[in-house]
Amino acid sequence: MEPDPNLPSIAETDALVTPVLATTSILFYVRGFPYTDNEEACQIIDAVTERFQAAVREAFERDSTFEVIGAVSYRYPGEEGSNVYRCARCGQWLTDDNQPNPCDGLMSGYLVGGEYLCDQHFELAVMSGLIPPPEGFWTSADEDVPDAL
Ligand SMILES: [Zn+2]
Repeated sequence: MEPDPNLPSIAETDALVTPVLATTSILFYVRGFPYTDNEEACQIIDAVTERFQAAVREAFERDSTFEVIGAVSYRYPGEEGSNVYRCARCGQWLTDDNQPNPCDGLMSGYLVGGEYLCDQHFELAVMSGLIPPPEGFWTSADEDVPDAL
């Protein structure tokens, strides 16, 4: 593949600009995978992957400031050691950044009293006084406070 003349060269990216790799995730459900040899599940995964990559390419192909990488990685929530949990309040998928193998693409969650809470429910628990604020606790309300002169 020829380099896109509109994108900065490797030398330019090393010297002048900072590349930013943004990732996002989708989560979908298939039956019987990966614990059984399930051809239908594999076809569903391939089809979803192709559709997801096409959507990303289509969204950014007309803007030369973006370079679509095209890499795909898979994680299987629920497998032992996957570090993927659900919020006990709302069911949001999350990962625990304080545990090994955090899952990029999921929001951070917090283990509180034996159950996981998503960012929003953790903040609500702190703001309502149910749990003490951890060191360095920050909320969006802190952003509105003007700096002292
Ligand atoms: Zn939640």
